[in-house]
Amino acid sequence: MDGYAARAEDTAAAPVTLEVVGTAAAGAPPEVTVRPGQAVRIMTGAMVPDGADTVVMVERTSAGTGGGVTIEVAASPGDHIRHPGEDLRVGQVLFEPGTELGPGHVGVLASVGADVVEVVPPARVGVLSTGDELSSDRGELRPGHIRDSNRPMLLALVKQAGWVPVDLGTAPDDEDEITGAIKRGVATCDAILTSGGVSVGDFDFVKVVLDRLGDMHWWQVAVKPAKPLAFGTVKGTPVFGLPGNPVSSLVSFELFARPALRQMTGHRHLFRPEVPAVADEALHRRPDGKLHLVRVLAIPDDEGRLHVRSSGGQSSHLLRAMALANALALLPDGGGVKAGETVKVMLLT
Ligand code: AMP
Ligand code: MG
Repeated sequence: MDGYAARAEDTAAAPVTLEVVGTAAAGAPPEVTVRPGQAVRIMTGAMVPDGADTVVMVERTSAGTGGGVTIEVAASPGDHIRHPGEDLRVGQVLFEPGTELGPGHVGVLASVGADVVEVVPPARVGVLSTGDELSSDRGELRPGHIRDSNRPMLLALVKQAGWVPVDLGTAPDDEDEITGAIKRGVATCDAILTSGGVSVGDFDFVKVVLDRLGDMHWWQVAVKPAKPLAFGTVKGTPVFGLPGNPVSSLVSFELFARPALRQMTGHRHLFRPEVPAVADEALHRRPDGKLHLVRVLAIPDDEGRLHVRSSGGQSSHLLRAMALANALALLPDGGGVKAGETVKVMLLT
């Protein structure tokens, strides 16, 4: 603290005027000693001079007679003094394995001179879009074409999760092209996300190629959206075959790829938090044996209770409603929830 280093017992009868015998600045041991009746002008971050056991902040002092300083308020020993070992002790474990290093952790590591630490490197995650209808150029779309929204979206999700996105481009519905792209991805990435081509259409070659190259599992998951899912390995590299519909693609990433990749990269906490929220409007659904994940906007009220409303249409091609959502309401099989009822939501941010 900027102020005066002194002996607490000398300040007991404050106001009291002490002789100022020097200055202690940050960065070097002070060359003065504080004796009875004396004080040293001290700056924040400076070492406490020998003899002093307290620091009086400058705001509690005034100019005294003969160049001295008047201490206005009695100080206690140890006031405004920090000791080695208060934050960390020798031998203490700084952080447990599996800790995600955030800005604070980086600061702590720097504070002990740990410039180099062993970490799980961020995974390089390749993203491949498939489909003859996908156009990547910015020009006018030809009839039958749509723009490739999944690839930029999945690359952004990978980046948001802290990994290195690797753009594997867009492959047409062609076995050789998809084979080439997957092989390129396997050679350069720690994991691969594909989107599209995993359903039962005549041109869903991702399925054919992955079955030929790797050891894949094909699932129908009882969730809506994001029902079809493929997972397996190609030459040891994990491959997630995500559905083509953009909302399904994003939700599959959240439900399956993100937790799996977090596990792969050494995280302890794999899943997004799930918390209760009040449905401010009815969230409808029909029984179909599936868990429905409804795109909602969750906003806390003044008491900190979350309130949710649908963020828009719930069909798996309505990507804007997904983009506007910050949570997925988890509606178990049944008839949905009525306005005012509690619903569990998975927070996406
Ligand atoms: P698919 O799984 O290939 O049958 O694709 C399902 C639906 O998602 C189709 O309507 C596709 O046009 C659409 N789709 C597939 N990939 C993408 C993509 N990368 N961006 C936008 N829509 C896509
Ligand atoms: Mg397709």
